[in-house]
Amino acid sequence: MMSTELIEIAGLSVELVRKPIKNLHIGVYPPAGRVRVAAPPAISDDAVRVAVVTRLGWIKKQQREFEKQARQSERRYVSGETHFVFGKPLRLLVKPAAGNRCVIQPDASDRLTMTVPAGATTDQKARWLSAWYRLQLKERAAPRIVKWSERLDVPEPRWGIKLMQTKWGSCNPDKGLVWLNLDLAKKSPPALDYVILHEMAHFVSPRHDDVFLSVLDRNMPGWRQIRADLNALPLSE
Ligand SMILES: [Zn+2]
Repeated sequence: MMSTELIEIAGLSVELVRKPIKNLHIGVYPPAGRVRVAAPPAISDDAVRVAVVTRLGWIKKQQREFEKQARQSERRYVSGETHFVFGKPLRLLVKPAAGNRCVIQPDASDRLTMTVPAGATTDQKARWLSAWYRLQLKERAAPRIVKWSERLDVPEPRWGIKLMQTKWGSCNPDKGLVWLNLDLAKKSPPALDYVILHEMAHFVSPRHDDVFLSVLDRNMPGWRQIRADLNALPLSE
């Protein structure tokens, strides 16, 4: 028998897997530094917490390593590169043009055309594309935030988008605030919907307890698979 739950330890989101093994095992996985603890059923949740806290330094060090690796495989923003937009791989076509504006336009043939001022640097292109992703995500997320606040009957939160290294979303129910990871603009629409539901379910229950899980089960029966798919992919690609 095996069960998986997500628990929060010292600010880390930890995947706790219960299975019939001898010893507790902590792993940190690329590319996002996902933390997974495998533990025999006999070890209490408190003991798991202590084990994770004891190895916090090591965990953080692993996560920094993965972050460094991710930065090294950074994009160059040249024609031919693949960039994901809501789960779809698009081929970048960079077209230099007169003027100082950047126009980004996906088309029906899976191309992402980026018209940029001649001589634009990699950094500038990265910033433009990132701003474009932010707009796309804002547009897609806004109606979903409204949808889930209505369905869960919780107040509509204030929300924002930011780049996060190890989380897809976060929230502060007391402040009525939700943050979404900018990189969700690269993931499939169901993944975005799941992350929004997850964060807003915390307005019903702040912990990953039975109440919280039943909100997820009731509203998105396939959420476990969506989450597994989301976590199997690089946080940033
Ligand atoms: Zn959560």
